[in-house]
Amino acid sequence: MAQHIYSQPDEVELVKVKLFKQVAYYCLCLHLLFIFAFWYSQVYILAIANIASVAAWATGIYLLNLGHSHLALRVFCVEVTAHSVLVCATLGMDYGFQYYLWTIACMLLLDMKLKLRLAITLSLSLIVLFAALFELFNDVQTAFVFHDYARPIHFINVFVCGLPMIYVIGHVRESTFIQRHQLATLAARDPLTNLFNRRYAKELILRAHSSCAHNGQSLCVVMADLDHFKQINDQQGHDVGDEVLQTVSDILREHVTDQDIAVRWGGEEFLLVLVDCALEEAVQRLETLRQTLEKQRFNGDELTATMSFGVALWHTALPFSVTLQLADDALYSSKAKGRNCITAARSG
Ligand code: GH3
Ligand code: MG
Ligand code: MG
Repeated sequence: MAQHIYSQPDEVELVKVKLFKQVAYYCLCLHLLFIFAFWYSQVYILAIANIASVAAWATGIYLLNLGHSHLALRVFCVEVTAHSVLVCATLGMDYGFQYYLWTIACMLLLDMKLKLRLAITLSLSLIVLFAALFELFNDVQTAFVFHDYARPIHFINVFVCGLPMIYVIGHVRESTFIQRHQLATLAARDPLTNLFNRRYAKELILRAHSSCAHNGQSLCVVMADLDHFKQINDQQGHDVGDEVLQTVSDILREHVTDQDIAVRWGGEEFLLVLVDCALEEAVQRLETLRQTLEKQRFNGDELTATMSFGVALWHTALPFSVTLQLADDALYSSKAKGRNCITAARSG
């Protein structure tokens, strides 16, 4: 199974900018429509205000394209706040233009350049302003052409305000989940080989052990070490050494099942936990692996590398450290026998 290491520095920020752009285009079109609606209904002050709004949204999109997302967000906040207050002062509260303050109060919290306390204070101020508008303009009555449509306009405004709020927060939530998963992957894996790292693997190994103990399955612990790897580094260079480690890791990955655990245990030392696998079967599988490695060519056909293995059956009553020691001793025997071979520990 292919595992990817993600290296994007701030994916949430990228998603946020993309969403702001979508919302900004949406608002720009909306305000263009408002120009005509208010002009038609002869509320000229609001028609003119909407021209200013279109200019503000266009400026915000321009700032977003320049990469100044926080400035764009501030332009949007000022525009929405001023616009809401102006429309409520002109038309009263029946049409629901005040709800835009809620949308912007939520968006403001995504301005990462603002300290949390300031962002919360500003958001809260917008909510207080929302409440204050009812006190100030609840009694405003205007001979508005669309007065008979106040209820549907109110409904549309509530919907239009809620949509970007749900859309942006939903996407930010999704990208936060993805980023969390990526960080967990990074914390679990060795960056060079993408195998599990030692620290993370210990927990997986203990979990595999208790699952096998519970199901009455056997499992084997394998220590594997590249032979004369120092020579490869010394003669071919460290980069070629790295390439060998990566290719060897790919081969190890191909020779284990989804249940098994493959770990970069140290520099050129690997640990495998073969789950639901008896000792004889483990030796056979390692022999296939050993032969594959032996045939592999590195650095453009010039170089070969071999590996020595030590394998021990993990008696479920024994702690991991004891089995690991057995596998390590068996590896030592393989090295002593001349390398490029497999030794099975005799008992646990
Ligand atoms: P043996 O057959 O007895 O295992 O000999 P060896 O040369 O493989 O063992 P030794 O312990 O003497 O050398 C291991 C070398 O692995 C030394 C170290 O520089 C190299 N090494 C460890 N980590 C890395 C790495 O990430 N990249 C590269 N290129 N080399 C590494
Ligand atoms: Mg070695
Ligand atoms: Mg070693």
